[in-house]
Amino acid sequence: MPIYEFKCRSCGKVFDLYVRSLFSRVEPVCPVCGGRTADKVVSNLGFGARSGAGGGQQCAPTGG
Ligand SMILES: [Zn+2]
Repeated sequence: MPIYEFKCRSCGKVFDLYVRSLFSRVEPVCPVCGGRTADKVVSNLGFGARSGAGGGQQCAPTGG
């Protein structure tokens, strides 16, 4: 059973949620504050500080 981690945007609490299906829409609810806005935390992969605001691919500088 896949388990996804979510991070609450309100309080920043990280909680895990059991997902029955990969393509099933889940509605994570923060167990602390009850917030419904949480971001899925991707584990296994390296954590990196990514800036929000908009979506856009960053062009890599070409070296010569
Ligand atoms: Zn919360």
